[in-house]
Amino acid sequence: MNQRLGMTAAIAIALLSAGAAHGRTITVSSATELLKQVRAAKPGDEVLIANGVYRDAQLVIDAQGTAQKPIRIAAQTPGRVVLSGASNLRIGGRHLVIAGLVFRDGAAPTKEVISFRKDSRTVASNVRLTEVVIDHFNRPDRREEDIWVAIYGQDNRVDHSWFAGKGNQGVTLAVIRPKGVPDENRARIDHNYFGPRPPLGSNGGETIRIGTSEESLSDSKTVIDRNLFDRCDGEVEIISIKSGHNIIRENTILQSQGSIVLRHGNGNLVSRNIILGRGKASTGGIRVINRDQIVRDNYIEGNRGTDFTSAIAVMNGVPNSSINRYHQVQNALIEHNSIIDPARLVFGAGNDAERSAPPITSRFVDNLIASAKDPFRTEGDVSGIVLSGNVANFAPALAGITRRDFTLKRAANGLLYPDGIDAGAPRDLKPVTDRDVGPAWYPKADASVAFGSGTTHSVRPRDFARVAGQAKGGDVLRLSPGDYRVASPIVITRPLTVSGPAQARISFSAPVLFQLGEGGAIRLEGLTIGGSGAAVVRSAPVSTIANYRVEIAGTTFRDVKGDVVATTPSTLAEALTISKSTFDKIGGTVVAATAETTKLGHYPIERIEIRDSSFTDVMRVADVARLGTDESTFGPNFLMVGSTVTGGGSPAVRLSGVQVATITGNSFVRAGGIEVAHSVGAPDTVIADNRFAQTQAPKIFKLYPQGSPRVTLRGNVGLAQ
Ligand code: CA
Repeated sequence: MNQRLGMTAAIAIALLSAGAAHGRTITVSSATELLKQVRAAKPGDEVLIANGVYRDAQLVIDAQGTAQKPIRIAAQTPGRVVLSGASNLRIGGRHLVIAGLVFRDGAAPTKEVISFRKDSRTVASNVRLTEVVIDHFNRPDRREEDIWVAIYGQDNRVDHSWFAGKGNQGVTLAVIRPKGVPDENRARIDHNYFGPRPPLGSNGGETIRIGTSEESLSDSKTVIDRNLFDRCDGEVEIISIKSGHNIIRENTILQSQGSIVLRHGNGNLVSRNIILGRGKASTGGIRVINRDQIVRDNYIEGNRGTDFTSAIAVMNGVPNSSINRYHQVQNALIEHNSIIDPARLVFGAGNDAERSAPPITSRFVDNLIASAKDPFRTEGDVSGIVLSGNVANFAPALAGITRRDFTLKRAANGLLYPDGIDAGAPRDLKPVTDRDVGPAWYPKADASVAFGSGTTHSVRPRDFARVAGQAKGGDVLRLSPGDYRVASPIVITRPLTVSGPAQARISFSAPVLFQLGEGGAIRLEGLTIGGSGAAVVRSAPVSTIANYRVEIAGTTFRDVKGDVVATTPSTLAEALTISKSTFDKIGGTVVAATAETTKLGHYPIERIEIRDSSFTDVMRVADVARLGTDESTFGPNFLMVGSTVTGGGSPAVRLSGVQVATITGNSFVRAGGIEVAHSVGAPDTVIADNRFAQTQAPKIFKLYPQGSPRVTLRGNVGLAQ
């Protein structure tokens, strides 16, 4: 009874206050009307945009509300106003609330989808953007840069919004601090859903950035709190801080490749964040650069990043650094964090001829580190970091860490805490869940279609092209034995599996056998393939936003005149895997991954894996290049194990700018050798336990003086001296 009364009273008060705040309500149904009515609006008015799909709508909102009576501009029904095609939104004015819009099926005609400025002189202040969706709103060319949300001005807020699927270059959400404008922004970014952002394959794939290096020595005072970051893989920086006195607090980061990076600016606080790598490769933690940074009460579990992407990475600086390089770490305080099952913690990261200034007057205290083995690595002089009060369950090499044998128990909040020991992150951390973020009316899920998840079609030679054209994502084309002659390319725009017994023999005279387009991915298994065209599989001829995958298993390639997998510029394969396959008389390259020729660190394949395969008289097994000196990406990664290369062209394997190369347990017989060219950063090359017969020794060299490659050569036999 009491409860009912309470509720009635609450509703009555809500109605009363709504009545007091609101003036007129006007409904509009075009961008022109919107501009006009918003301009005419008085404090407390509400302008509703009629439900519908608006194509090529460039919205401008410019009005003056007051703190007590903001002007509200909203979708008539939240989520039912869709901006598509060449649409954008520019906001001027102050004390506005903008709500309920969806940007989908298009791309901004300008450099920013939503801009907190009307033009270069008119910036917004005290504007709240809430329950807005930007869903895969990408330019068709992934190299063309844009920003989805650009926050200019002061005291603006973006909350309960939904951003996922940014596939082209450019930050998802940025606080812009133009050169010559060092003002505090005091922006708040909270309760947003930052959904999957695929690897970009170059710099410019950050999810959030606050400022740029030019004005990084001034304060932004932006707060980023209680957001959910779900598979934000764009590049090494998930959140890139380039200004001072920002707070990054109570966010949850799930399975995202990259880190919170205090790249430029001083006095930032990173506190009470939960970062769960769940064993996914390259999942990072927090990277510290500059002065007076505090990293406190964070929980990091199961991350697999190393080097710059370690759970905690404290970097070396550049003496007298220019504004855009690395200022020395001073007065860092890293305390009361829990770091559970990390791949690495590193002090003095990036130490090289240029980054020679070690961290000073810094403290690493009262942290909990749980790991099967000592995950710490020090690079150079780390005496400027004082460790004390830390607890670990392994035998630590560093002083200031006490070994205690504890067991971890998962608490009600889903996080692990040591039984009976008060150390590490606080017990009252609260992970951000799906329900806490974004608008309730827009779904969060974004699963990619797995190979083999659809229907299986039996295919005879005469039906091949037709069935391939009609198949749905995840379907399997099961080829019957027979000869399949293909004279024109089979275009693939969804994930398809083509499988067969070895007696299903495909020969192609088309320039390309399988031509991938946007959304395409292919798995080949059990087939026999030969032909006179330029490539068996080729990525899209124009830029694609979706990353693609190629899997080759148990397939024989014989008498192929061109390449097996040929890549094109401005596309990215997330993975190319080859297993238990045979390549015999291949006139081109099996993995041709040199399509990118810019010096900006672009590359065409993130991860290449070759296992248990044989290559006989193959012109080149793999040719992989990532040019330039950029350090923003994890790839390319190259793995070759358990395979045999006999005869063929030289070098058999050529890698340039690959970040991690592992070549183990292979045989090279009368073959071209291995050539590895390292660029900057800390590339890791392992060539071990291979057999080389009448084959040149591996050639490994540095393309640039900076950088600190790690090279492991061991257990190789038969190397000519
Ligand atoms: Ca970056």
